[in-house]
Amino acid sequence: MGLSKSVVARAEHQAGDEKFASIERYSSVARTVEILSDAWGFLVLRECFFGVRRFEQFQALLQVPRTTLVQRLTKLTELGILNKMPVGGRHEYRFSDKGRDLYPTMLSLLAFGDKWLASGKPPPLQLFHKSCGAACSPRIACSHCNEPIDPRRVRYRDGPGAGSEMRTETRKRSRRASDPTVLERVRPCSVARTLQIIGDRWSFLVIREFFYGVRRFDEFQARLGIATNILADRLQRLTEEGVVIKRQYQERPPRFEYIMTEMGLDLYGSMLVMMRWGDKWLSGGKPPLTLRHSNCDHDFYASVVCDQCGEELNPRDVSYTLRYHLDDTVAAAA
Ligand SMILES: [Zn+2]
Ligand SMILES: [Zn+2]
Repeated sequence: MGLSKSVVARAEHQAGDEKFASIERYSSVARTVEILSDAWGFLVLRECFFGVRRFEQFQALLQVPRTTLVQRLTKLTELGILNKMPVGGRHEYRFSDKGRDLYPTMLSLLAFGDKWLASGKPPPLQLFHKSCGAACSPRIACSHCNEPIDPRRVRYRDGPGAGSEMRTETRKRSRRASDPTVLERVRPCSVARTLQIIGDRWSFLVIREFFYGVRRFDEFQARLGIATNILADRLQRLTEEGVVIKRQYQERPPRFEYIMTEMGLDLYGSMLVMMRWGDKWLSGGKPPLTLRHSNCDHDFYASVVCDQCGEELNPRDVSYTLRYHLDDTVAAAA
């Protein structure tokens, strides 16, 4: 991906962990990640996609403290992702259009986890596409030409929502990704595994900067206003996870840069899918960036399609086979 001027000249980040300022456009993916990377919130959404609707079901299935569950359901309802509705004398939580539209994001994270983080085991979930009748995997494709999207073949320009306001937030201290044992509670889950990598704020921002062409320590630091120890920690972790490699580019004095591996580059598709959701639901209908695919020379968004028939996947047309055992109490609740 080339470094377009408008992209480079974009955000101003205040130094320090507590305050973070960014231009609205750049936060739409970050906010999507934030919503998903709250471990309990994520679990609730995941179970929703498996058809869980009622408070007691969530509670039995996830073994979550009551107050925690109340908080998360309330938050997801406030965010407009779930609707609380009376059904037959009780309440059910159901996806709004905004919530259901997270499906491609979930699938893109699932595909990444299946491909890179399954440790040689078969993916925990097998998807079936009812429309074509095939066992399938999600694939991320250009909405115009249906070809895969290589980060080096995408250009940006300002979209209708460009020129955007600055928004400043006060944040809690930067957290590491949620405890994997929480995220994979009940079900082994490729989406959860992917969130281990991109689900904490700084890791996510560092990965994003990679896609803008940043490679060197001091450059990350200058752009993100990130504390040295946090940056060192995240780069080391991303190296251990296989997302980037550290390479010496100069001998005297020795200097190093980080570059993305094939695995790292493969995160790009998920980023674009999340960006689409953020653009659609958090930008007031005015996507700040327009993407252009060099392969077909058309504007596009990242769509998630069936790798067998090429059609876009939506929750109603997909069924699942679990490749793991759900214990009886859990199965009954589900
Ligand atoms: Zn294309
Ligand atoms: Zn299909």
